[in-house]
Amino acid sequence: MADWDWLDSDLQRLRDEGLWRHVRAIKSLPDGWCEVDGRRVRNLSSNDYLNLAYDPRVIAAAKEGLDDAGVGAGASALVSGRSPWHERLESAICDFEGTEAAVLFPSGYAANVGAVSALVSDRDVVFCDRLNHASLVDGCRMSGASMRVYRHDRLEVLERELRKSSEDERRWIVTDAVFSMDGDLAPLVELCDLAEKFDARVVVDEAHGTGVFGANGRGVCEHFGVEDRVAVRIGTLSKAVGTLGGFVACSVSVRDWLWHSARTQVFSTALPPAICAAATKSIELIRGEPQRRQHLHSLSAELRERLTGQLSSEGEGPIVPIRVEQPEATQRMAAELLEAGFLVGAIRPPTVPHGTSRLRICMTAACGDGEVARLAELLSSFSGR
Ligand code: PMP
Repeated sequence: MADWDWLDSDLQRLRDEGLWRHVRAIKSLPDGWCEVDGRRVRNLSSNDYLNLAYDPRVIAAAKEGLDDAGVGAGASALVSGRSPWHERLESAICDFEGTEAAVLFPSGYAANVGAVSALVSDRDVVFCDRLNHASLVDGCRMSGASMRVYRHDRLEVLERELRKSSEDERRWIVTDAVFSMDGDLAPLVELCDLAEKFDARVVVDEAHGTGVFGANGRGVCEHFGVEDRVAVRIGTLSKAVGTLGGFVACSVSVRDWLWHSARTQVFSTALPPAICAAATKSIELIRGEPQRRQHLHSLSAELRERLTGQLSSEGEGPIVPIRVEQPEATQRMAAELLEAGFLVGAIRPPTVPHGTSRLRICMTAACGDGEVARLAELLSSFSGR
């Protein structure tokens, strides 16, 4: 038997420091509800912002895909080819995003790692926001490029670093569109200005932007009017789209390059056709039902307004972080919220730095009248504890 004593003592340390993570059992229910420990509660920990994961039309599309093409894709697209369901989803993404081409990946994580590591070379320099998602960081590391970490609240430092970099190096600025633990938006106009000044290319991860921001729901690049100034937009189908998978919306040349060299796409089985069918339907609904997005924003704005002074960062949109600081207290408050009927994420180190633990509310368009007021009242009662 292998000896795991060293792991057991590390696990005990996590328990002692209040950092133990319990992966709870949960059952999804329609309309943004879920069942936890036998009780029906409002799910405010999911990224299904538009309540599409359980939409009957999306489910019907998935069933049609299942009946037509079975469950698994069987192999990577390069080996086995793409089904009509994959092709339909790619062209739905191109139409929606207004790009020449799109490449599908097994997840948003895989899209970020695969695209960044394939496009950025070890002769380049990559500027990576310190709060970027792990998948962007991993992609930057895998690329072998020299990596500089910057903060989006101190762009003068980024400018200084860009000025210092050599003109012989290809420069990249890689950023999340919405920072997932704080809910604030990347300053994309300023980043594009800097990129143009220093001949850098901007790569944006729209994971929490797609379907949520922009007049047409294309994301934060659309919201700030910089779609044409950004070299590559990466998205996920697992959050507002309510399904699974990642995509890169790009030029034909970038698509062809990614098909040849994005390792997470080349060496991984393609998405199940039924998931492609569901995602295609979801994108149609995102385009045709802007009221979902508008309702989501009005609920989020109401919650932010009611909780002024308790937020751990200023932002906009559905990710609303409540400052707590200590991990034990965060966990206790999340348990009280659950007791009161709201499932909310308790975000603790190592996901966020020590001393910045928080409750992270992910608003959903499924919320009905009065729920935000009740939630805000509960959260306000925690203030000062
Ligand atoms: N980027 C960001 C900013 C994310 O929050 C996530 C999901 N946590 C991902 C990428 C990865 O997406 P997926 O869950 O589809 O792998």
